[in-house]
Amino acid sequence: MKFELAVLPGDGIGVDVTTEAVKVLQATGERFGHTFNRHHGLVGGIAIDQTGEALPKETLKMCRGAQAVLLGAVGGPKWDDPRARVRPEDGLLALRKGLGLFANLRPVKVFPMLTNSSNLKPEIIEGVDFIFVRELTGGLYFGKPKRQWQTSRGRRAVDSMAYSEQEIERIVRVGFELARGRQKKLVSVDKANVLESSRLWRQVAMEVAEEYPDIELEHMLVDACAMRLIQNPRYLDVVVTENTFGDILTDEASMLAGSMGMLPSASLAGAPREGTSTFGLYEPIHGSAPRRAGLNMANPIAAILSVAMMLRYSLSLTKEAQTIEAAVEQSLNEGYRTYDIMSEDKTKLGTKEMGDLIAGKVGGQ
Ligand code: NAD
Repeated sequence: MKFELAVLPGDGIGVDVTTEAVKVLQATGERFGHTFNRHHGLVGGIAIDQTGEALPKETLKMCRGAQAVLLGAVGGPKWDDPRARVRPEDGLLALRKGLGLFANLRPVKVFPMLTNSSNLKPEIIEGVDFIFVRELTGGLYFGKPKRQWQTSRGRRAVDSMAYSEQEIERIVRVGFELARGRQKKLVSVDKANVLESSRLWRQVAMEVAEEYPDIELEHMLVDACAMRLIQNPRYLDVVVTENTFGDILTDEASMLAGSMGMLPSASLAGAPREGTSTFGLYEPIHGSAPRRAGLNMANPIAAILSVAMMLRYSLSLTKEAQTIEAAVEQSLNEGYRTYDIMSEDKTKLGTKEMGDLIAGKVGGQ
């Protein structure tokens, strides 16, 4: 089969890890007889340097014409001036908006051979394997009014946590669909004891639940979820939550896996359903780690696992996705590590060598 993909390496180690992810994609194509036509575009700091915009129109157009987008990371000290008219991260927000991406999926899986890389005790994190679904386009970050003003008694500021029932319904549905393909257990996180938007969230979640009688729905307060994540993370399987809660909880969750370099993510424009393809953007959760850029140090596994997610959700290539995931696992099992997950008696590899190793295993070597 033939697929059209947009590839946006971005800045810093975004370039290093995307190169390896593409290598693994190529190997997958060769093994399974697919052609992945890749269209490269600019986003972030490099786009600002070359065009003055963080998301040039051509890039957005190219992404809209593709079946999925693979992104590296954006940003770096060069573009950090707070007075700058445009910032690299503006490119990411514009991409999400321009592509209608409202569901951010972050799987957190602790590989058995890496339990010692985490700050948490091995017995707490052993067997952790859950997926967070974060709403991406509403809530506190976008709600109006949103402003700061001067009063006679000093400055004041307001942000608004606003949600419509349609926005809640579509994201909760993503949670239910994912739960269906996993342990049929969905945790919906809110703060319904205090927030009106959360009370609506909970009501809508219960209404949608009627369409999914096979799925067990549990409501959890966000503060309880923050504790559960470090006290008994194995309890969780699929978790759905609003934008701000999700932003904070997913970063907390990423610490379970030991390194940012291990965790992929997807941002989808629809609910993923077995056997159908959903448009999405796929990227590692980490940033551009500018100090590591170009040094052949960055861990490419998060980017490589992002390719696996892309194959699964946007191209309906489940077997191919599993092959990549198995190749990653096998490489780790054989003791190969990048610097961020290195431990005694293991073999340290650079970015390129780790990419070569995984691509080789995908290709059947
Ligand atoms: P970061 O994720 O780039 O780095 C955090 C730490 O993790 C650093 O010590 C880094 O060396 C390490 N790290 C990250 N990815 C790694 C990998 N693949 N392998 C090995 N080590 C890895 O976060 P930061 O330092 O806060 O931000 C750096 C820049 O990235 C900033 O400009 C920030 O705005 C940007 N950023 C971009 C995104 C994105 O593109 N989605 C996300 C977060 C931060």
